[in-house]
Amino acid sequence: MTKSHDLVTIDDLVEKLKTYINKEEEISGIITAYQFANEKHKEQFRKSGEPYIIHPINVAIILTTIYADSATIKAALLHDVLEDTDCTQEEMEEKFGREVTQLVLGATKISKIHFSTENDYLIDYYKKIIVGISEDVRVIIIKLADRLHNMRTLWALPKEKQKRKAKESLEIFASIANHLGIHKIKSELEDLSLRYLKPEVFYDIAEKLNKTKLERDKTVYEMMQEVTNLLTEHSIVHEIKGRSKSIYSIYNKLNKGKKFSDIYDLLALRIIVNTEQECYLALGIIHSKFRPLPKRFKDYIAMPKPNMYQSLHTTVFGLDGYLFEIQIRTHDMDEVAENGVACHWAYKENCDAKKSMQSTTEQKLQFFKVIMDLNNDKMSSEDFVHSVTDEVLNNNIYVFTPKGDVIELPKGATPIDFAYKVHTKVGETTVGAIVNNSIVPLNYELQNNDIVKINTNKNSTPSKEWLNIVKSTQARNKIRGYFTKNEKEVYIEKGKYLLEKELKRRKIPYQDFYKEENITKVNKSLKTNSVEEIYLGIGNSKLSAGSVINLIDQYKQVSAPKVIKIPPKVLDTDLIVDGIDKVKVNLANCCNPIFGDEIVGYITKGNGISVHRLHCHNVEMLEDRTINVSWNEKTIENKKYLTLLVIYTNTLENKIADLVQKTSMMNISIESIKTIGKEDGFIYEGSIYVRDVTHLNKLLLEYEKTPYISRVERLMR
Ligand code: MN
Repeated sequence: MTKSHDLVTIDDLVEKLKTYINKEEEISGIITAYQFANEKHKEQFRKSGEPYIIHPINVAIILTTIYADSATIKAALLHDVLEDTDCTQEEMEEKFGREVTQLVLGATKISKIHFSTENDYLIDYYKKIIVGISEDVRVIIIKLADRLHNMRTLWALPKEKQKRKAKESLEIFASIANHLGIHKIKSELEDLSLRYLKPEVFYDIAEKLNKTKLERDKTVYEMMQEVTNLLTEHSIVHEIKGRSKSIYSIYNKLNKGKKFSDIYDLLALRIIVNTEQECYLALGIIHSKFRPLPKRFKDYIAMPKPNMYQSLHTTVFGLDGYLFEIQIRTHDMDEVAENGVACHWAYKENCDAKKSMQSTTEQKLQFFKVIMDLNNDKMSSEDFVHSVTDEVLNNNIYVFTPKGDVIELPKGATPIDFAYKVHTKVGETTVGAIVNNSIVPLNYELQNNDIVKINTNKNSTPSKEWLNIVKSTQARNKIRGYFTKNEKEVYIEKGKYLLEKELKRRKIPYQDFYKEENITKVNKSLKTNSVEEIYLGIGNSKLSAGSVINLIDQYKQVSAPKVIKIPPKVLDTDLIVDGIDKVKVNLANCCNPIFGDEIVGYITKGNGISVHRLHCHNVEMLEDRTINVSWNEKTIENKKYLTLLVIYTNTLENKIADLVQKTSMMNISIESIKTIGKEDGFIYEGSIYVRDVTHLNKLLLEYEKTPYISRVERLMR
């Protein structure tokens, strides 16, 4: 846990390599890889100020502690070359061959993923992705070492980034290291993560451990002597070590409500013997002298952990009443416990070369096992939430943006769904898609892990055909929204036409009517904001052209039809605006939010805050001017809210009377109901007043039971 400013060199690496790699040509191959990487990174420096090459050397050194093979060491030295320098895949392949290049490519792929640790099911998914896209388990091991060195030098990064990286390391990387059984990397990652995530806790535990260290050391030493004598008396050849628990594992226990003084396995011994039989023998001998604590014995030899860990665990009352946690295992088991999958590497001393030869089949099997374990984890948990999560995972796919952000989509989703998920604007201007570097049709079915790039053209618009292609409700609603919005433009056109036709009929020159004072007066009476809004009102038949003209005294016609007013937008006390007390708030009339809807405020220019439904496409593009608003649950007014429904029927019989009856039965007032189109049957638009979402849902339920109604939507303009 040093603030490693220590400038390691290639010599330090070579020295470590020589402890387990005997072939001179392999060492010199590694040196060549180093020289190449050094040359490529020579202008680059790390945030910590060191020359960049220090990082890959450190990653390689970490890998020597688990006896990584020479291809892995080379790939570790080269792991950032493809991403950060001008080196191409071809150049690397020519110099170092396919095996090394594939490892580097795999590592590069993983470093392009942007992790977000906010969502639990995403965390599980990231683990699967990492495992899934690494066709060779050595890729993951390189990434673990890479992450470990980055964590060791995390102090060089800004605070906020430290926390994020620490969380990622703990929840994703340490967990993978654990699945792979690489204990050394796992526990250092955990300790380092804790140090940045909860520094107070970390230093508190470290200090307490320090304070009690002398006493513990003495006790452990005496106990070791006792146990060694005992085993030697029974002719069991063994190694014995005292061992310290990691700070993170102590933190975990404290977190489960234990007191520091109660964490009885602070004192721990490990006994390593030659055969499995001797493990049980040693256990028996120790239990005969030191009384075991009930229920603390675990036989991981007979029942290995999923990551292949094997050992006997017991806790006994030792000298001076101290409790000792004792692990007993063979040398082979110890190797697996420390290095997990990495223990299959070929170069260990006192190891049968043939047996330990790295077998690809064995690797692959191991690899599948890891994937299975990741799944089993979820299964073994009886938590209902988890099984739901699994549902979610099974019905969704995860694809990437070219930058590596993960996008979640329903199974069967197309590039259009993807585009809308990225941004409405992207969706609406989509012209083509590239998946994993090849052009695909827009109805292409995306697969897990696809990398998707959308081509857009700012002059392009959605096609109605897309409604038949998309899978996600979000994209479908947005496409529909787009066409409804465009219908709005049609209404405006129509309104203008009707108004001017009426002006012509009454022989009023346009320029006279359109005088600024007239328009201001009309806007004021109708509570509209622009000529377009006046047109819109006329176009969608809320207003008649005549009634609008009548608002100007000099043009008033006695016989003119009565003005139908647009319902006034009220100053609402039923809305709470984040951080602001008195502000003009009104409900937007594009999406007509009702009490209980998810809402968001939009800060208008000079007209206070207009409140929209959260997914109203009019605000989605304006994120930078939004503000949190919420419904005031304590409101006492018995207010009703206007909302617009589009009711699709399957009949060409006029159902207006029936609809009116059904609706008023629910104590809902109807402002208007009219036919707006026809598909398989008439389509009606109803504007109604409801108390809140629950009230509206009751109505929708009633509609659902009505045989001639095929679908109902709330209108968003
Ligand atoms: Mn790196």
